[in-house]
Amino acid sequence: MSHAAPSRVPLAKPVEAVPAGSLRQLRLRAADCRACPLWRDATRTVFGAGPARAAVMLIGEQPGDQEDRRGEPFVGPAGQLLRELLAECGLAVDDVYLTNTVKHFKFRMRGKRRLHQRANAAEQAACRPWLAAELLRLRPRWVVALGAMAAQTLFGDAFRLTRERGRWHALDEHTDALASWHPSAILRMRGEPREHALRELRRDLCAVAARVTGSPARTPSGDTP
Ligand code: SF4
Repeated sequence: MSHAAPSRVPLAKPVEAVPAGSLRQLRLRAADCRACPLWRDATRTVFGAGPARAAVMLIGEQPGDQEDRRGEPFVGPAGQLLRELLAECGLAVDDVYLTNTVKHFKFRMRGKRRLHQRANAAEQAACRPWLAAELLRLRPRWVVALGAMAAQTLFGDAFRLTRERGRWHALDEHTDALASWHPSAILRMRGEPREHALRELRRDLCAVAARVTGSPARTPSGDTP
């Protein structure tokens, strides 16, 4: 599929300079990135993964402990939940490009455990060129921002998941995007709020699958259309 060149980086937040090169070249260059301090304590850069011609790109927040150890996005407990939901909706995970807003794991130690910490605004800004480059190389037809960090990177700081989750927005003339809950946030919830958010994330992913396949959105058991 050929596309017209995009007129701009499709992110609401500013990007200084977008690195050039193929996805493979970008991944190699990002492995040596020192643009913010997060590389020092993390094991490795966790760049995006998936086919270069993927029509769907899912953007999370940051790699977690498992992702840092294995060097792949969405391979920890949250990734497992995401993969289950994608399968329920009929989206093959191998057809989807998975990435994060920030490419290194940020954590603090508590005893022997590495506890996740949110990347700050400067770290997010330093990493944005990599996400911009992924978007410009892939030119996905549909993008899903998982969690507030990814959503605000795409749509701006005023974006609120609680208010605008699940609504499609045009990122540019080629790409539509929506935001939904990050699966790791759902795993931290308890009781009915967790069930509710889970239903919403499932509904949003099934809405993406419906656009990909051109068929009506699946409504897995327990969900409401
Ligand atoms: S988090 Fe991003 S900007 Fe910071 S060192 Fe890693 S790849 Fe570079």
